[in-house]
Amino acid sequence: MNKYCFPKKKFLSKKTILVTGASDGIGKTASIYYAKYGANLILLGRNLNKLQQVKSHILEKCFFRVEIQIFEIDLLNINESKCLHLVKVIKNSFPYINGILHNASILGENNPIINYSSVIWQNVFKVNIYSVFLLTKFLLPLILESVNGSIILTSSNVVKKGKANLGAYTTSKFATEGFMKVLHEEYRNSSVRVNCINPGRVRTKMRITSFQNEKKKLFLTREIMPVYLYLMSDESIKDSGKVFNCQELIK
Ligand code: NAP
Repeated sequence: MNKYCFPKKKFLSKKTILVTGASDGIGKTASIYYAKYGANLILLGRNLNKLQQVKSHILEKCFFRVEIQIFEIDLLNINESKCLHLVKVIKNSFPYINGILHNASILGENNPIINYSSVIWQNVFKVNIYSVFLLTKFLLPLILESVNGSIILTSSNVVKKGKANLGAYTTSKFATEGFMKVLHEEYRNSSVRVNCINPGRVRTKMRITSFQNEKKKLFLTREIMPVYLYLMSDESIKDSGKVFNCQELIK
């Protein structure tokens, strides 16, 4: 499909995009590619050093003159006052946000529900879905200030069929798709669009540490970037309420 090829240069210029989990894996690569295509960035992560390295990498490559703000936040401990502070910091540099990529997630433990730690279950829900709710709630006014805002959430193959022994992660990804559908309905008559990306099987820290003996072919993070770029660009303004499955779209 042509629209999932790498697009012409700078088609995200004048856009400001916030990425969660920007310090590693898919979020790091998406941040690099968004800058490569001209976007200003707000990078969220729990490790300031790693975020600074991503920022330096982007600035060293000197793609374009992009502005990059980094914000250290552990999504495990996110609350309303941290969100208010984030909004205040963003407003010092940017009048609005054009896009949010909710990308950060944790897998939790590998255990059947009968043995699943209730603390870990709660933590997975805090990072994977409660933070998505809070960040969306507080950032929506900034998105609504922009024209054609795009909110992307991150789903997974586990939603196709409940994945045994990954109960919290799987349930949080079902909730992610539910959240996307609700938000899509709430903004149906606005220019804001809300979609999920299911990245498929991608070679990242999360994948390698959790599925060590996996034999199936894995995407490199950069291979799935056309979908991440498409959904942040104005090419996708008519798309909302959908799940974009990279395994089906990127051949
Ligand atoms: P990853 O390599 O583990 O990266 C996850 C990112 O989230 C990292 O930047 C990590 O920060 C950040 N993060 C984790 N916990 C956080 C917290 N408490 N507060 C703030 N940031 C936190 O994972 P990935 O494979 O790129 O996954 C990205 C997204 O794709 C996730 O939503 C995942 O569920 C989804 N996904 C991935 C695959 C796959 O095959 N890789 C398949 C389906 C769906 P640190 O750098 O500090 O660890």
